[in-house]
Formats: sequence, C-alpha cells, structure tokens
Amino acid sequence: MKYRVIVCADTGEIVPSYEFYLQTEHWRHLRNVKRLLGNCEHCGHPIIHEFDVHHLHYKTIGAEAVTDLMLLHPACHSIMHGLPIARRTRGAGFTPVSVFAEAIGIRVGAW
Ligand SMILES: [Zn+2]
Ligand SMILES: [Zn+2]
Repeated sequence: MKYRVIVCADTGEIVPSYEFYLQTEHWRHLRNVKRLLGNCEHCGHPIIHEFDVHHLHYKTIGAEAVTDLMLLHPACHSIMHGLPIARRTRGAGFTPVSVFAEAIGIRVGAW
C-alpha cells in the first residue's frame, strides 16, 4: 500500500499517502472523537495529556469506525508495536517516518 491515495469519506479530502492523511481534517476530527473514550485501551488508565490513535487495520482508512481504532497512551502504543519507549520523540507521538513505516506494515523497532 505504498503511496496509496486515500480518500476521506466525510470531508472529501484526497491525500497521496498515510503521512499526509495524518494531517487531514478527517483524521483530526476522528482523533478527537476517539479521545472521548477517556481511557487507554491498552492499560485501561485515563488519558491525561498526550494520546495516540492506533489503526487496528487499514481496510476502512478514510471512513473508519471508532471500533477500527484504539485510543492509547504514546508509551502504551510503543509497547504494542514493540518499540523501546526511550527511542520515541518525547510527547510527540510517532515521528513521520515511523508513522509511515506503520502504514506500510514495517516495524521500526530495529533502529
Ligand atoms: Zn495506556
Ligand atoms: Zn499503531
């Protein structure tokens, strides 16, 4: 799925890759909706500040249901992907490179 065009069903935005997808109004809105869940779906503790939204799969990208996504602490997200927490950018979620690697199914734990 390298450089696959993604169409956002609700906003009509069309982007050339997952990296651009993460900048769309559609994704921003969806993240905020998912945030309302309140608790991390990995550890069960409340989300206080930073959070990540993880795709369980990419079959519905652009038209995801909230059940296609997981609300996670950034650290819990790292654990789920098998990434060492210390290597993550502090408080910033995934770097664009690792986000893109995730989109195309590459694990980046071996940096
Ligand atoms: Zn957590
Ligand atoms: Zn993820």
